[in-house]
Amino acid sequence: MSSKDLRAVLIDACLQADRLGLNSGTAGNLSVRYADRMLITPTGIACCDLKQNMIVECALDGGHSGRWRPSSEWNMHAEIYKAFPEAQAVVHAHPDNCVALSCLRKPLPAFHYMIASFGGDDVPCSAYACFGSRELAQAAVQALQGRNACLLANHGMICFSDSADKAVANAAKLETLARQYLKAHTIASPVLLDEAEMRTVRSQYRTYGQQPAADISGNDS
Ligand code: 13P
Ligand code: ZN
Repeated sequence: MSSKDLRAVLIDACLQADRLGLNSGTAGNLSVRYADRMLITPTGIACCDLKQNMIVECALDGGHSGRWRPSSEWNMHAEIYKAFPEAQAVVHAHPDNCVALSCLRKPLPAFHYMIASFGGDDVPCSAYACFGSRELAQAAVQALQGRNACLLANHGMICFSDSADKAVANAAKLETLARQYLKAHTIASPVLLDEAEMRTVRSQYRTYGQQPAADISGNDS
């Protein structure tokens, strides 16, 4: 895809994240992989003010040119692209329930089978480090081992996927699960699925949601 097309994809993904209530104000940032570089949202700009020319083409060492500076979290996005070749898009957000859980500095455990869709038996929480720091980038990559999403201590969440719209959908799914977990927790500690149950879920997920290919007109036959 051309840089212009990818910029449009990135802005659509930002608007979708906004519609889903994943961020408010200038919190959060999104990027897509672009050859050996990335296209990333600019720092300090609310998504409703974003224009295509503000998206920053940024090398994975932070090098960039032009009028707009990349997100302060460029390092975290870059380290994820370096560590996970399958990552094509990264979403970082501060949705309420993920933030609340991240302040407990505990993983989101296997209280629901959908936790398995993030790659393991829990969604880990990274160690704490200041926003925009190299330490935070390293802590995120460490927490993401074997996963496609994690909480960021006292901060929010980050996830990646093979497309921008899937990464936004994953962020929204994590926020929903965080809300459901906190809701259950107001009554008592939820019963967790055990390792064998989660193994069965993982194998069920391998074929989940697959449909026979539609014909070219999209009609059923
Ligand atoms: P930016 O505006 O620099 O992208 O930062 C927002 C944020 O969420 C920092 O963690
Ligand atoms: Zn943030």
